[in-house]
Amino acid sequence: MGLQDAYLSLGSNLGDRQANLRSALNALNRERVHVAASSSVYETEPQGLPDQPWFLNIVVRTRAEFSPVQLLRIIQRIERQLGREHPRRRVPQGPRLIDIDILLFGSTIVRKPTLTLPHPRMANRRFVLEPLLELDADAADPATGARFDLLLSGLQDQQVRRIGGPLTLE
Ligand code: ADP
Ligand code: MG
Repeated sequence: MGLQDAYLSLGSNLGDRQANLRSALNALNRERVHVAASSSVYETEPQGLPDQPWFLNIVVRTRAEFSPVQLLRIIQRIERQLGREHPRRRVPQGPRLIDIDILLFGSTIVRKPTLTLPHPRMANRRFVLEPLLELDADAADPATGARFDLLLSGLQDQQVRRIGGPLTLE
């Protein structure tokens, strides 16, 4: 992994999930967050709040030309534009048209109230680690040094299935 590669996780479990992911990728490119590589598409079991539709998830690698906080602002703007509900009305870990999280930003470590890097829950989410490892099989947690492939091997109870290759953009 190059020092300044930022990895984003995208998920959707409402409406036309694949179209929502594609819209988010187009919006990232439009905001000059250039998507350099995208994982396959995975259909994944909801975590935390089980009684909701399954998600489609992907992970993308982008060139980090912005600061981590600038990147967070951009992805939050895209979430709002794509019709995500106001944060106060949303059920934590509940259904959403689009969720974009920053997983890794090079090997940067951030611990602010509004931004934690690496993403605090990524190490126990199979729906994140499996697509991430597709893009970088040697990825490791910059805070602990733990390899994500080893962390993934403890998460086999979460259901994840690869349903198609990387999304194509128009
Ligand atoms: P979740 O993705 O956990 O379901 P949200 O998308 O609603 O929840 O995010 C809640 C808050 O998490 C955001 O307002 C954001 O400030 C914060 N946050 C902290 N670290 C990150 C990160 N690495 N990527 C994205 N959001 C983050
Ligand atoms: Mg989020």
